[in-house]
Amino acid sequence: MSAVSMMSDVASPFAATNDEFAPYSTARHWIGGAWCNPATSTALQEVINPRFGKVIAQVKMGGKDDVDLAVASAAAAARSWNAWPIRDRAHVMYRLRELMVSNIDELSWLLSHENGKIYGEAKAEIEKGIECVEYGCSLPNLAAGNQLEVSRGVACEVAYDSLGVVAGITPFNFPMMVPLWMLPQALVGGNAFVLKPSERVPLSTMRLAELLKQAGLPAGVFNIVQGGREVVEAICDHPAIKAVGFVGSTKVAKLVYARASAHGKRALCLGGAKNHLIVVPDADLELTAENVVASFTGCAGQRCMAASVLLAVGEVDHILDAVRVRAAKITTGKDLGPVTTQAARDRIAGYIDGAERMGARIVLDGRRASAVAGGYWIGPTIIDGVTADMPVAHEEIFGPVLSIMRVKTLEQAIDIENASPYGNASSIYTSSGDIARRVIASVEAGMCGVNIGVPVPREPFGFGGWNDSCFGAGNITGWDGYRFWTRQRKITSKWALQRDQTWMS
Ligand code: NAD
Repeated sequence: MSAVSMMSDVASPFAATNDEFAPYSTARHWIGGAWCNPATSTALQEVINPRFGKVIAQVKMGGKDDVDLAVASAAAAARSWNAWPIRDRAHVMYRLRELMVSNIDELSWLLSHENGKIYGEAKAEIEKGIECVEYGCSLPNLAAGNQLEVSRGVACEVAYDSLGVVAGITPFNFPMMVPLWMLPQALVGGNAFVLKPSERVPLSTMRLAELLKQAGLPAGVFNIVQGGREVVEAICDHPAIKAVGFVGSTKVAKLVYARASAHGKRALCLGGAKNHLIVVPDADLELTAENVVASFTGCAGQRCMAASVLLAVGEVDHILDAVRVRAAKITTGKDLGPVTTQAARDRIAGYIDGAERMGARIVLDGRRASAVAGGYWIGPTIIDGVTADMPVAHEEIFGPVLSIMRVKTLEQAIDIENASPYGNASSIYTSSGDIARRVIASVEAGMCGVNIGVPVPREPFGFGGWNDSCFGAGNITGWDGYRFWTRQRKITSKWALQRDQTWMS
């Protein structure tokens, strides 16, 4: 710890209570229960509030030596933390929950300012994070393991044990929720954790570190190393880190999965998405229109569960009209936040330009949207007449853009959907149970919705996609999460000599 300079200051509560621009403190590492500067790196990166395109804070970018220090701190804390009874570890989650509930407005405003999502969406994210913490509270009731007398006088038992030091790497679009997909299970499971948040949104987890400390988490059990690629690679390579959870783009998910696995670690790496909504003529007009719009515009389309392609089966123009009318009523800046960077804004606009050049019709055009000067704005956009050769049909856009592809049959819709290498979410809009069942049984997607455009499995159900949307086995949340962050110890015992011995006794 001597190589890092310790800072006595805390990550103070965020003062803003509205959208007006407000700065925040510099993001540093949280190691051994205190804020500290990088050991050697002097690199600084700006954290931008995308609503204004203005610097809200700086982040001090770490390197390999900082990962070494964080892992040393975690390793020193892990053994005694794991010796706490699971119920006591879960009690930290109970207290964290109460602190998150009582600070929800502050946490939501901070998240809204660093990420750009509107306040209501930021609050919904914190609420979802709280739900994940509540799952952590329930683990003592779930993790009892099993015991059975397998033959006369011989008992087999399964118990869950910690892995030791584990790590998580998270994306920009859910600064608080995604870390909380991992932390409750990993910490209640008895591990010490090293988090590398997205360098674009390092502020929310600073407050989380403070709240965990207030909740009674011992120093060193939770650590943050700020930074980018160098830190991620050092995490994958570090011999003392036993498991890595990653959430981000498919390109990086594949890299992290390969590198962490090559070092013998457990890895579960969730990647990008290209989600399809199938709409058939018997779909309920109001329900479908409202739901489709919420799915492609929510969080400015920057959700791995966002609708991206609407597969219009047969004559559904009345529904598509209702979608367009509803989406046109959205006020950018009030109902819809900015996207994350100027580069993201230009990339999204480039996709729309490209589709138009290739002959698609822009039936709702968000390219000229503007709300607050300097911000990265793009309004709701609907592109009709999209064909399979257009990039908007198969690439992840990650903006409030809906591509409509028209097909004659359900089978054609399913074929288009299944040609995508991704497999995160898929939704069917219909009033027919038979159609819903047929579609769900046929699509290559880990999370399916019936008349729901963002089919996120809520706790206790596990979150995770298929194919290029997830590398590694299982889901990141729910019981699978606990299984991922723990290992099973199998204990076989016999206490007395059995006279009727067989080879199994
Ligand atoms: P990203 O892949 O660019 O970054 C994710 C993390 O990886 C960040 O912490 C970043 O610092 C790090 N990173 C970036 N480039 C790296 C590199 N070359 N080597 C090592 N580490 C690197 O993703 P993002 O832009 O922050 O987030 C958006 C993406 O995340 C979208 O593709 C979205 O679909 C996906 N996502 C997926 C899920 C899911 O559950 N499947 C959830 C949220 C977001």
